[in-house]
Amino acid sequence: MSYVITDICKGTCDTACVDVCPVDCIHGPFEKDDMGQGARDMKAEGKSIEGLQLYIDPEVCINCGACEPECPVDAIFEEDELPEEHNKSIIENAKFFTE
Ligand code: SF4
Repeated sequence: MSYVITDICKGTCDTACVDVCPVDCIHGPFEKDDMGQGARDMKAEGKSIEGLQLYIDPEVCINCGACEPECPVDAIFEEDELPEEHNKSIIENAKFFTE
């Protein structure tokens, strides 16, 4: 069981969640080892991050819940609490780390 970032994150990539995660398992939006830096850089350069989001590695997440309240757009859910319309996010988060 892990926490999941839904596509509500798309276009925000705030990265406050990255800063609080004790096991550094939140990455994206481009590379598996990019801890939100790509999005930070784009924002700093005034570029649009529409369609981009962060992802949680389900193999590393310890389900601590620290990230959830940090998200300014409420994009993060515990897998058990995920609204049905966001079920695909479970696969999308895992896929980011396995492809
Ligand atoms: Fe990281 Fe904890 Fe959030 Fe999992 S629940 S992504 S370990 S902050």
